[in-house]
Amino acid sequence: MRRKLVAGNWKMNGSLAANAALVAGIKQGLPAEVCDVAVCVPAPYLAQVQGELAGSVVALGAQDISAHASGAYTGEVSAAMLGEFACHYVIVGHSERRAYHGETDAAVAAKTVAALRASLVPVVCVGETLEQREAGQTKEVVGGQLDVVLDALGGEDAARIVLAYEPVWAIGTGKTATPEMAQEVHAMLRARLGAKSAEAAAKVRILYGGSMKPDNAAQLLAMEDIDGGLIGGAALKATDFLVIVEAASGVVL
Ligand code: PEP
Repeated sequence: MRRKLVAGNWKMNGSLAANAALVAGIKQGLPAEVCDVAVCVPAPYLAQVQGELAGSVVALGAQDISAHASGAYTGEVSAAMLGEFACHYVIVGHSERRAYHGETDAAVAAKTVAALRASLVPVVCVGETLEQREAGQTKEVVGGQLDVVLDALGGEDAARIVLAYEPVWAIGTGKTATPEMAQEVHAMLRARLGAKSAEAAAKVRILYGGSMKPDNAAQLLAMEDIDGGLIGGAALKATDFLVIVEAASGVVL
């Protein structure tokens, strides 16, 4: 049985004051029997949020990682640096990084390897554009993105990642994949994990991301292969985020 995971992706949002209020709100409203919860914050706020999460079950995550260990890579943040702030998770290959920063599948694979080497859990994002979906290429695109990452990993490492299926057309648009559409892709991804190793297929949590909100989370999270959510917009409001956490934790609403 895979434990559900709800991870907030704050993207480039926040301020010292707003972060403090958001974290306090989340901590205050967590259900007693809670699923795994994380917040992936902008790098400058890692120290602040690390301090504010002290003693809480909410894990800290980052939004990107360098494939390199150290050196002349201006603007990049290494795995070791993230480790110093007790980061547990790091998002890798988010579609915004692929689209705006030209991250290739190979770069995403290298970042995944860098995260695992430092004992961070990479949340590897895959997803198709609307054009690709309409051209019937979803399986090929999304499966291909995963395969490049899996090719860089051994079977044991493959079982240590978290995967996030995030259809690009659903991110920040208010359009959500139906539970059935998402389940179909998640099942395909689990089969690909299974081709790598049975352990990976059994253990890897596959999150859905793309306009998951309080009013659609429970239906998505009820699907067999949806093991949690990667949440953008709804992660910026404690009350919304908590409803999703409650749905993933099995709290009857
Ligand atoms: C995301 O960016 O990872 C995401 C899922 O965003 P949103 O929930 O806003 O669609």
